[in-house]
Amino acid sequence: MIDSGRQECVMTASVSRGADGERIVYLDYNATAPLRPEALDAMLPHLQDVGNAASPHAAGRRAAASVEAARRQLASLLGCSPGELIFTSGATEANNLALRAGVAAHRRLVTTAVEHPAVLHTAHALSREHSTELTVLTVDRDGLLDLNALEEALASHDTTFVSVMTANNETGVLFDLKAIVEICHAHGALVHTDATQLVGRSPVDLTDLDVDLLSLSAHKFGGPQGVGALFLRRDTPLPHHPLLHGGGQERGWRGGTLNVAGIVSTGAAAAAAAVTLSDEAKRVESLRDRLETTLLSRLEGGTVNGDPYRRLPGVSSLTFPGVPADAALAAMPTVAASDGSACASGAPSPSHVLLAMGHSRDEAECTLRLSLGYATTETDVDEAIETIVDAITRVRSALDNHSPSGVR
Ligand code: PMP
Repeated sequence: MIDSGRQECVMTASVSRGADGERIVYLDYNATAPLRPEALDAMLPHLQDVGNAASPHAAGRRAAASVEAARRQLASLLGCSPGELIFTSGATEANNLALRAGVAAHRRLVTTAVEHPAVLHTAHALSREHSTELTVLTVDRDGLLDLNALEEALASHDTTFVSVMTANNETGVLFDLKAIVEICHAHGALVHTDATQLVGRSPVDLTDLDVDLLSLSAHKFGGPQGVGALFLRRDTPLPHHPLLHGGGQERGWRGGTLNVAGIVSTGAAAAAAAVTLSDEAKRVESLRDRLETTLLSRLEGGTVNGDPYRRLPGVSSLTFPGVPADAALAAMPTVAASDGSACASGAPSPSHVLLAMGHSRDEAECTLRLSLGYATTETDVDEAIETIVDAITRVRSALDNHSPSGVR
């Protein structure tokens, strides 16, 4: 929990006000979370300080020491060793790095139809450019993977690279990663997971979860945008295969001057998240449940997408048939939410995740994603409920009045 002064600071740093100064309830944590006050405080001096972390003089050594301290903070959040982390510009880069290195080792790639485009598009690009054999596994109506299908995809091969996400960014559905890793390792496959939506929001323990590689992004847990990391487990049999060649930074895995301020800020966000991780996850889950249950009881016909029990605590993907999400969002300017994944927004096609789960185009287009996080309060949820109920009711009645000859 953060005190009210800090809370004010968080909300000032985040999208808390509209163009006319009105209060905005921010329910789009899966797109990005507000910068934590600790992350802002940690970053500021480094924006003013000169020092390249690769320089041998005192300023450079100070910068390098700050980066290493942040690496330890992030490693402690994940239960890994600091030397197993490679800092990147975000999860998109971490995913690209993981898949390219994986494919350099194994010319066979298995992934799922509901991955973030940073994995799915990379997988398709690799299959086009490097004649990688690609298998894309589908999911069921609840967004879960059929483990027998995974087993089958691996059965006749022993050199496969598998990339499956930990938690889905649109529905919050959590794959059974422990079971997936067991199956993959039994077949000699390496496993990468895109854990961008889970890290810093629910506990992740890499001493227990035996994945070989894991991607994360700082801005999903209150760190800055533009910083991420790839966890690469020590002794993983992968050839050294950087995406960015350069000055040998990050043990040669990622060339480029280190973003010292961003990395230090990421370490501070990781440390702040770690303090209350389990309690926060429970608090956010109960807020999400209240939001979801109340909306479904007050708005007829709404349904929840994804397995309701195997989900991230802060995500609610709701379909209100007949109410296009873009119209609903336009009718609720004081709530910041999403009609799918922010990364795919602007694209005319409906969510590939919902389509893969067997939803129709119409259902996908009538789906709202509400995502809560560490700074969401009860007041936010109460306000959001009233605003969303009002907006959807108004959109429904406007559409009813415009339907031909009043037929409903
Ligand atoms: N993977 C997932 C699951 C995501 O939700 C996102 C961000 N929407 C990304 C990857 C990309 O992360 P970044 O913004 O750090 O590139």
